Amino acid sequence: MANTVVIGMQWGDEGKGKIVDLICPAFEAVVRFQGGDNAGHTVKFGDRHFALHLVPSGIVHEGLRCVLGNGMVINPEALFEELKSLRSLGVEPEGNLFVSDRAHVLLPLYAELDRAREQARGAASIGTTARGIGPAYENKAARSGLRIGDLWASNLEELVDRLMARLQEEILGLGEEPLAPSQGLLDVCREWRGRLEPHVCDTQSLLNGWIDEGLHLLFEGAQGTLLDLDHGTYPYVTSSNSTAGGACTGTGVPPSRIDGVLGVLKAYTTRVGSGPFVTEIDGATGEFLRRRGNEFGTTTGRPRRCGWLDLVAARHACRVNGIDTVALTKLDVLDEMDEIVVCVAYQSDAGIRNDLPSRVDELEHAVKTLGLKAMMM
Ligand code: IMP
Repeated sequence: MANTVVIGMQWGDEGKGKIVDLICPAFEAVVRFQGGDNAGHTVKFGDRHFALHLVPSGIVHEGLRCVLGNGMVINPEALFEELKSLRSLGVEPEGNLFVSDRAHVLLPLYAELDRAREQARGAASIGTTARGIGPAYENKAARSGLRIGDLWASNLEELVDRLMARLQEEILGLGEEPLAPSQGLLDVCREWRGRLEPHVCDTQSLLNGWIDEGLHLLFEGAQGTLLDLDHGTYPYVTSSNSTAGGACTGTGVPPSRIDGVLGVLKAYTTRVGSGPFVTEIDGATGEFLRRRGNEFGTTTGRPRRCGWLDLVAARHACRVNGIDTVALTKLDVLDEMDEIVVCVAYQSDAGIRNDLPSRVDELEHAVKTLGLKAMMM
């Protein structure tokens, strides 16, 4: 496959990082197209392990170009931390890491906003990674966000003031302490400029130019299909399009230049955060999977909820992403089990369903009204 998109077929943590790591020598560049530092994978470099959240793990492969596309929301402070870790390992990102001038800046204070909102939602909280992803995409959609390229804009002060006024209103509405005056943020933005400058460019032109030259690109999705803002288990989703279409809108590479979509599917299912999970297993079996599969979040360290493989969800993922190849991961975690259960359909009052319901209450109802055995084989 030439230009290939790699997508998670469940709620993230399917092992995409490992698959990307395995196949990236066949590509000249790895491109991220959505999300921010809510994602994470552990990279082994020599005898050291470390977590990357923004930069694709491809950066440790010599000469492989890595791109953070326009669909991403980037916390500059988190990026600088990663660059520092990479340099401490002898990996020099300059010259190999390209950041879109159209990507949005995720302000560090969005993390506080994310936390305050989650608290305000109480029992209905999403269980976010508290990295400020929701607020960053909301400001983008509201057309008041700050883009990476804006850091060099002649009207930066005006943009910062407008954004701060909007944020101030929300913070006060949540009963939080008022924000510091916008001058502080303006100074920080100016300081970020110098550190980002070696990496920032028009990545849309760059990527399409590379394709013109015959280079092969690997588009690395973060999170997974069921966390997609449109096609996931809304509202228990992330705030971006983590399905294959996001690779086009999040990079400026058109669908006609994508050659294939590889789906990564874990042999069982995990989910971090709240929301419906039809095949979830409680008790000893769930605990066994969590321990054996080391199912703890890379970004937050939270224990992942575990359950059986859900083929209704996998069918949905195949359809909305146009998956033509599947990489099945972590099959060995199930080695010691006498019985492996797979969900092939959902059953509700309305009868058997082979497709994923759009509503949370329908998904929850499927869990509540059914013994798992009744719908498994
Ligand atoms: P947010 O992306 O931090 O807003 O979180 C929204 C939902 O997506 C929560 O349920 C998170 O646990 C989940 N989530 C976000 N990123 C990841 C990931 O990389 N792996 C698994 N779950 C994630």
